[in-house]
Amino acid sequence: MELLDGKVVKKKILEELKEEVLKLKRKPGLVVIQVGDDPASKVYVGQKEKMANSVGYNFQHIKFDENIEEDIIEKKIIELNNDDNVDGILVQMPLPKQLNSKKIQNLIDQYKDVDGLSDINSGMLTHNVDTLVPCTPKGIMDILEYYNISVSGKNVVIVGRSDLVGKPLASLMLNANATVTICHSKTVNLGEFTKNADILVAAVGKASLITKDMVKENSVVIDVGINRVNDKLCGDVDFDGVIDKVSYITPVPGGVGQMTVAELGKNVLKAYKNREKQKILEKQ
Ligand code: NAP
Repeated sequence: MELLDGKVVKKKILEELKEEVLKLKRKPGLVVIQVGDDPASKVYVGQKEKMANSVGYNFQHIKFDENIEEDIIEKKIIELNNDDNVDGILVQMPLPKQLNSKKIQNLIDQYKDVDGLSDINSGMLTHNVDTLVPCTPKGIMDILEYYNISVSGKNVVIVGRSDLVGKPLASLMLNANATVTICHSKTVNLGEFTKNADILVAAVGKASLITKDMVKENSVVIDVGINRVNDKLCGDVDFDGVIDKVSYITPVPGGVGQMTVAELGKNVLKAYKNREKQKILEKQ
C-alpha cells in the first residue's frame, strides 16, 4: 500500500505557481468574501490567504456582518466583477440561511469564478469545455495524475453527489474516460457498488462508512470526508481496516484536503491568463 500524499503534490503545485507569478507583468488578484463568524470559515479563509501570499498574489479579504442584506453583497460582487485588478472572486460557504447562496455564486463573472461553482461553469464542465473547475475534485484528478494512476477505462465509484465534490468529479472522471457510478444516501446495498471500484472515492462526511469488506483488492481509495471523532480528524474510510487490502489511499488529514487550496491557486492563475488573453483579443 502506498499513501497518496497531498502535501507533496501541493508543495510542487505552489512552487510552480510562485515561479510563474514572478514572470507576470502584474500580480494576480484574489478576493475572498466572508459573511459572519463561522469558525471553520475563518480557518479556510486563513488557509486561502496563506496560499495567496506564498505564491505572490494580491489577496483581499472582505468580511460582512452575519445579518448583512443580500443586495449589499450583490453590489460588491458587481463592483469586483468590473475591477480590472481582480482575477478571482470566491464567496466562502456556507452563507447564513437568509442569503441565497446559488444566486450569489451565479452573480460572479464566470471568468472570475475561481470556485467553479456557478451554473455556467458547471454546465461547461459537464459538456467537457475547458473552464474553471471546482477545486476539490480537480485536486483529486491531479493527485492521481501525480502518482501516474490512469483513470481511463477504470471503474470509478463515487459515493456522494454534491455540487461541490461528487457531481463535478463525476464529470471530470467521465471526461477522462472512466466508467463512472455515483452513489448517494438512497443507494441500496452500497457495498455491492463500492466492491467493484478500481478507484473508490468517498465524499460523504460519515466516519468509517467504508469498511474493508466494501473495497476491492488492490484498488485505489480516495477519502474526501472530513470528520471529527474523539477530537481527531478522520475521513469516511476505515483507514486502518482497509490499508492491507488496497494499493493506494489518501490519508485524512494530509490527502485531498491539502489539494483544495493548491487548486484554488491554480484557478486564480488560469483566470488571470484567460483575462489577459481576452484583453489582447479585444484590442485587436
Ligand atoms: P454534502 O453536500 O453533505 O454531500 C454528502 C453526500 O453524501 C450526499 O450526496 C449524500 O447523499 C451522500 N450520503 C450521505 N449519507 C450517505 C450514505 N449513508 N451512503 C451513501 N451516501 C451518503 O457533502 P460535501 O460537501 O460533498 O462533502 C462531503 C465530505 O467531504 C464532508 O465530510 C466534507 O467535509 C468533505 N469535504 C472535504 C473537502 C476537502 O478539501 N478535503 C472539500 C469539500 C468537502 P444525498 O445526496 O442523497 O443526500
